[in-house]
Amino acid sequence: MAGNITFTMIKPDAFRAGNSGTMIKMIQEAGFAIKAMKLTQLNAKTAGAFYAVHKERPFYQDLISYMSSGPIIAMILEKANAVEDFRKLIGATDPAKAEEGTIRKLFATSIEANAIHGSDSDENAGIEGDFFFSQFERV
Ligand code: ATP
Ligand code: MG
Repeated sequence: MAGNITFTMIKPDAFRAGNSGTMIKMIQEAGFAIKAMKLTQLNAKTAGAFYAVHKERPFYQDLISYMSSGPIIAMILEKANAVEDFRKLIGATDPAKAEEGTIRKLFATSIEANAIHGSDSDENAGIEGDFFFSQFERV
């Protein structure tokens, strides 16, 4: 059975553009409850660790520079079928391929600067939530 927790980050491009509030409203209106939330900034080491699965990809160094270029908002979210439903809400990695009405279609500017992250499995949702939050930072 699908789990009810996912993890997200509002990425530096979207935070810088002032879109965080609108995006959080869309997330809540789609039925996700916020269980933890934090404004923070990644550096080369922490961004590299978070995206370590992509370390052999040609875009890895650019991804790390981009993800550490400004503040991000990390959140743990709760909803039935959280991982799959959240990936539907954010849309495809490349905003040119994202469906109308999705967060990336509305706010992403390129395949790299794509506004928001969503976990791709229940297992990774747990790992990513633990990466950012202790048990005392969750409701
Ligand atoms: P995320 O993991 O951030 O939710 P995703 O699962 O849709 O995104 P991944 O394949 O995991 O996509 O890629 C992680 C991130 O790396 C993307 O969100 C994007 O910022 C960047 N990225 C992916 N593919 C490319 C590419 N071809 N060129 C540049 N950046 C890319
Ligand atoms: Mg991914």
